[in-house]
Amino acid sequence: MQYKPESTSWIEISKSALQQNISFIQNAIPKNTVFSAVLKGNAYGHGIEIYAPLAYECGVRHFSVFSADEAYKLLESVHGDYKIMIMGSLNQDEIRWAIEHQIEFYIPNFETLESTIKVVQKINLTAKIHLEFETGMNRTGFPISDFKRIISMIEQSKLIEIEGVCTHLAGSESIANYKRIKDQIQKFQKLKKKFENLESHTPTFHIACSAAVLRYPKYVFDMVRVGILQYGFFPNNETYIHHYLKNPDQKNPLKRVISWKSKIIETKTVKAGEFVGYGMSYYTNIQTKIAIVPIGYAYGYNRNLSNQGKALVRGLKVDVIGTVNMNMMTLDVTHLTDVKIGDEVVLIGEQDEQSISVASFSENSNQLNYELLARLPKDIKRKVVD
Ligand SMILES: *Cc1c(COP(=O)(O)O)cnc(C)c1O
Repeated sequence: MQYKPESTSWIEISKSALQQNISFIQNAIPKNTVFSAVLKGNAYGHGIEIYAPLAYECGVRHFSVFSADEAYKLLESVHGDYKIMIMGSLNQDEIRWAIEHQIEFYIPNFETLESTIKVVQKINLTAKIHLEFETGMNRTGFPISDFKRIISMIEQSKLIEIEGVCTHLAGSESIANYKRIKDQIQKFQKLKKKFENLESHTPTFHIACSAAVLRYPKYVFDMVRVGILQYGFFPNNETYIHHYLKNPDQKNPLKRVISWKSKIIETKTVKAGEFVGYGMSYYTNIQTKIAIVPIGYAYGYNRNLSNQGKALVRGLKVDVIGTVNMNMMTLDVTHLTDVKIGDEVVLIGEQDEQSISVASFSENSNQLNYELLARLPKDIKRKVVD
């Protein structure tokens, strides 16, 4: 077999953690509500090609992605009976491709609706679409006042089936947005009535992301679009505390699916009174043992973690010292005995009793869980573990 060099670090995806998170989500929603696994952003950095088949194995049958190329990767990597919904905008070629592959997609404006009408006429196939409405986030979606015009265009075309009607909430993870979210829900419910009065269409209704599932459980309607929870994270601390206060006996209901690991490539002892790495950001007050790890900002390890980050080596938490370089960083391992080249380094995950969560990692760098995960490069090798 031909030799293929691998990345200097690897990501492990835990199947048992994913199973636990999926059960948590299923238990949090009504029985008839569909759980759609949101896999945008390369499955929040987990790697769509490895994550999607695993989620399918764990029983997920509905996936939401952002773009046509993500839907393409999903089709390539998961063979079976499931639905795909694209939430982002599509050009005419992508619309045609989606319809030909029975992929559902959002229609957020008249441009996309008109393109879709043209395509279905040309290929004489039915498009299953989700009408996205603007309810107060002021991002994408039709104003509700366009309702009549939308329906009449769709009815004329005959080849468009309204599979869903949806909106997105503008920050349901924070109680500070309560009024704004409640207004959005109210608008959506009025819209829902308009559809129910039509009778000629029986769409599903969906508005809830992870935070809304936990904070607005009465308003999950027919489907939830859940991202971050399935990967084992609460959307933010506030949502975790809210959940914990309601379920005090359920201390850690979610389990982190991802771990990120590498190996030490160099160790050495530096005399007291020297600088480590570029410039003068780290000075050795005492004789210091250091270890070099082949991870840097080119691999998604934020440069803001210079002199801030933590890693696990030999079961202990050690500091990142000096600046994070493009491809390397340095750890202070003075207090560890027997550290040697090839020792495992954990950047996210567990080693013995210690753990580094993405959250603790991102508090240091002011990056949200979401952002840090989504930035993990696609070419780091991923593997499934139990
Ligand atoms: C990202 C996204 C979600 C999922 O958000 P989470 O907070 O990760 O659950 C749901 N709906 C839409 C439209 C999204 O873009």
